[in-house]
Amino acid sequence: MASENKIINKTNSESPSFGGVGGGFVSTRNSCKLCAPLGASMVFKGIEGCVPLIHGSQGCATYIRRYMISHFKEPVDIASSNFSEETTIYGGSRNFITGINNIIKQYKPQVIGIASTCLSETIGEDIPGHIYNYLEANEGETRTLPTFIHSSTPSYCGSHAEGFHNTVLATVKTLAEYQKKNDHITLLPGMVSPADLRYLKDLLADFDIKATVFPDYSETLDNEYTSEYQLIPTGGTPIYEIKRMGNSKAVIEFGTTFNKGVSRAKDKGALQTAGEWLESTYYIKNHQMPLPIGITATDRFVSALKEITGKELPEQHRKERGRLVDAYIDAHKYVFGKKALLYGEDDFVAALADWCKEIGIEPYYFKSTDFETLREEAESIKPDMLLGNSKGYYIARERKIPLVRVGFPIHDRFGANRMHHLGYRGTQELFDRVVNALIEYKQENSPIGYKYL
Ligand code: SF4
Repeated sequence: MASENKIINKTNSESPSFGGVGGGFVSTRNSCKLCAPLGASMVFKGIEGCVPLIHGSQGCATYIRRYMISHFKEPVDIASSNFSEETTIYGGSRNFITGINNIIKQYKPQVIGIASTCLSETIGEDIPGHIYNYLEANEGETRTLPTFIHSSTPSYCGSHAEGFHNTVLATVKTLAEYQKKNDHITLLPGMVSPADLRYLKDLLADFDIKATVFPDYSETLDNEYTSEYQLIPTGGTPIYEIKRMGNSKAVIEFGTTFNKGVSRAKDKGALQTAGEWLESTYYIKNHQMPLPIGITATDRFVSALKEITGKELPEQHRKERGRLVDAYIDAHKYVFGKKALLYGEDDFVAALADWCKEIGIEPYYFKSTDFETLREEAESIKPDMLLGNSKGYYIARERKIPLVRVGFPIHDRFGANRMHHLGYRGTQELFDRVVNALIEYKQENSPIGYKYL
């Protein structure tokens, strides 16, 4: 087994500086980060009956829709308050009201999730104030007004991952209440695939555990065919379930890197995760842990479920674990000692790195970098494979090595929403893909060729 992962802790602050006040401005080349309201939109898509509204220019909503449609291959309706030059100078309150009225008229949503953008934050839009004024102006209305959730997501304060986490936190803070303790648990899975969400729900059902999984876009972003267009797709975590989170017996939250050591350390509130907030507000124990990729990490998740409920791992899942151990033994010779270059969201990459160590692959990854830096580092590392999203494809192509596509976004393959990474079952699928990519590479590059292993 490889003993150490190679975490190359190079941040963008070490990239060449291009001046600016105090010399603090840096440039990235082909950035790994996506935009913060994109992460917010994914969370809003995981709430039942919710329509996301991007408070800013139309291009922001178009970019987000394009990225999500290309990855999920589903229609993704995202509204925009459509800022113009005039709005930028005089403020966006009028556009906000028009946008909200149009959404209510066209979609009749239960929830409107409002994410800010670089522009609306820079000009100091008071979105909570807009919501307050809208509700006050519509007091006594006979029509039922939706619930409003606001998430502050300027992209210069973080990536899509921060946007995602901040919106989970904003939603929980807005809706969760305490009434009476009950025996259900809250699972906050982070930014995972629809297939992963379905797996987690199946596992919890097999354990016979009552749980709220939030956000749940397992249907909204990977839905069945319907002959009529659904303005708001079915699925998503119901509002009443988010509300009752304050009554939970326990919280399980995947991800351990968000908010640790980031530059906003001054603002303690912004640094809390939703699980930490539930713990500090409602005294519910938050079991925070890495994403369950691999046997060790999944065992930890399963142990937490057993500890909380006193129940044993269901037989079919115990067998899945056993088959995974067997596969590790069978394929060890193909993976041992290989080098993998990893990239993606910090929590996801941290979990992948631990998994690589578990199977004998040496993981290399960078913190907060861009693809050109990654490309340069690949020159010295000489990895055997890349593990990450589609955006690193050109590095794999240039180096003529396999890219195993995982995470988000995957724009050059089909079925990204059905890619599975979590638990014993997801790890098995991931392991098979990694092993086969290495075997295929060896076979393709063999001078004699072979067709039998
Ligand atoms: S301007 Fe900001 S919010 Fe809009 S798409 Fe660009 S990074 Fe995202």
